[in-house]
Amino acid sequence: RDAPAYRGRYAPSPTGPLHAGSLLAALGSWVMARQARGSWGVRIEDVDRLREISGAAQSQLATLQAFGLHHDGPVLVQSTRNARYAAVVDELLARGDAFVCHCSRADLAATGGRHLGVCRASGTRPDPAIRLRVPPGTTIEFVDAIRGRQVQQVDVDVGDFVLRRADGFWAYQLAVVVDDGDQGITDVVRGADLLDSTARQILLQRMLGVPTPRYAHLPLLLDGDGRKLSKSEQAIAVDARDPIPALRFAWHALGQQPIRADTPAVFLAHAVDAFDIARVPTHDITIAASHNTAATRD
Ligand code: GLU
Repeated sequence: RDAPAYRGRYAPSPTGPLHAGSLLAALGSWVMARQARGSWGVRIEDVDRLREISGAAQSQLATLQAFGLHHDGPVLVQSTRNARYAAVVDELLARGDAFVCHCSRADLAATGGRHLGVCRASGTRPDPAIRLRVPPGTTIEFVDAIRGRQVQQVDVDVGDFVLRRADGFWAYQLAVVVDDGDQGITDVVRGADLLDSTARQILLQRMLGVPTPRYAHLPLLLDGDGRKLSKSEQAIAVDARDPIPALRFAWHALGQQPIRADTPAVFLAHAVDAFDIARVPTHDITIAASHNTAATRD
């Protein structure tokens, strides 16, 4: 059997219930996968155990089901993957592409928190981090399906970035690349807050010899103060008992034309036919306070 041409995914962190912004990302990645007749997986990104809210993953999965956003295959849970991440990091260490770093925040303050090639550690720490060694002159270029051409000079703009944090948790950048690779993801569709992480992820993919997926970064929803609606802040959960208003709002925020439907199933069927990526805004969207309420009003 040939590998499917399109494998998408939605990868929420279990830091709270789904809100209007996370629903937008879920709907956008789902509709693109379904329109391409591809698969759509869900992955729970719970590497950061400190930010995790107990019960959030179950609530997110239940909300997706209630909205008719059904996923294919088993849910991958990152906290079950320690051995795999450790093996990858060990390999990078063995090759000299990663290194143990004793720098503290204060040691890196002079370089804006970036680790630019040289350790400036003022002492040895019981809990060192592990960083990827970013070769000098590493410029990564890619074309985002929504935001267009992107270029980042990773060695200068980001520096040697963390793969395993000093507190022992795996870094998001590591886990996401290993999982997208292992799951054969061909298309990453997610919020534009991660546009800036993409070059790092492509660099890591190249170093690990895994294919680079296509990327599409969806508009972020910002509150009246210009802050990202975040699961961990005040954003209000979408109402799983009343999906249509929240679906309508997410669809509208994706720049799409109104759909007439009374049930999520009918709404989503029309959405798959009608979705047009050319209509998706290339900028973030500030929403009225009443809509940080999960778009319950239409
Ligand atoms: N877990 C990330 C988040 O919830 C998304 C990661 C991704 O889609 O690559 O913001």
